[in-house]
Amino acid sequence: AREPRDRLRVAIQKSGRLGDPARDLLSAVGLTWRESRDRLFCFGEGLPIDLLLVRDDDIPGLLTEGVADFGILGRNVLAETGLDGTAPGLEEVRQLGFGPCRLAIGVPEGWDYEGPAQLEGLRIATSYPAITQDWLRRHGVDARTVTLSGSVEIAPSLGQADVVCDLVSSGGTLRANSLKPVETLLESEAVLAAPPGRPEGVRGELADLLLRRLDGVRRVADSKVLTARVPRGRVAELVGLLPDAEAPILTPALELGPDGPTDSGMFAVQALCHGEVSWAVLERLKAAGAEGLTVLPVEGMLV
Ligand code: ATP
Ligand code: MG
Repeated sequence: AREPRDRLRVAIQKSGRLGDPARDLLSAVGLTWRESRDRLFCFGEGLPIDLLLVRDDDIPGLLTEGVADFGILGRNVLAETGLDGTAPGLEEVRQLGFGPCRLAIGVPEGWDYEGPAQLEGLRIATSYPAITQDWLRRHGVDARTVTLSGSVEIAPSLGQADVVCDLVSSGGTLRANSLKPVETLLESEAVLAAPPGRPEGVRGELADLLLRRLDGVRRVADSKVLTARVPRGRVAELVGLLPDAEAPILTPALELGPDGPTDSGMFAVQALCHGEVSWAVLERLKAAGAEGLTVLPVEGMLV
């Protein structure tokens, strides 16, 4: 029988696209590790939370078998292993905002693509046969998947398949192989995955702590401080334009005249915004009379 654990384990990609951002995120929530020589297992120092550094394909299995409590992996891998039966029932606990990409059907550039029916009877090269077959079934298309673990995009030019179903971010890899994306099967990003239910005992408390801190870090990343000078009579109108802001700090603004500071008729506004402070928002504020608009990053907050 397996020893009951009193430490939490988080499995992340050892290298690859998600390895560094996953480590950075876990560092940002205050985790530190003693580096082990083989770097497959990193013992957590400040908190009893350890890291497992593995291939992303192995993360669902580690979660299903109870070897790890959380995993950071692409939604695409989680969806595939959920559908193909190797790791059913895992939950996407949080979306993490990095590693964005989509799983897309790519067809030869010269094709006039008119819809899924055009894929009938073709061979589709993919590393995601379960997601692909699920999508084909839902669209009433009968096509064969050719499962490849890498270099999927060259399969059509090698005559191994007619089209591909692969991960796309910029589309550059498809284009380099004279293919173009025509259908999106899944929008993906890095997610925090876990088996259903909260771990028992002390690991449950550690899991809650980790989730609370992750939410805090994500909130900081999405937040900005906006400062501006605003005419006194238009403060309420301008505050109404701020995206998801905490109650702003308003201070009468002085201006420096020949005899010293005098009332400028303006207010200095400082607001913590949780929504996106886009160019469009700034332009609306300026049109409403705001001056000296400045957007500042947030390092931390406790509101
Ligand atoms: P491992 O050695 O761990 O098995 P891998 O080669 O399977 O690594 P990576 O290429 O590092 O995996 O990709 C990891 C994840 O990054 C993907 O599953 C996907 O969620 C995400 N990703 C983001 N953009 C892309 C992209 N353009 N191509 C492939 N994956 C991408
Ligand atoms: Mg992999």
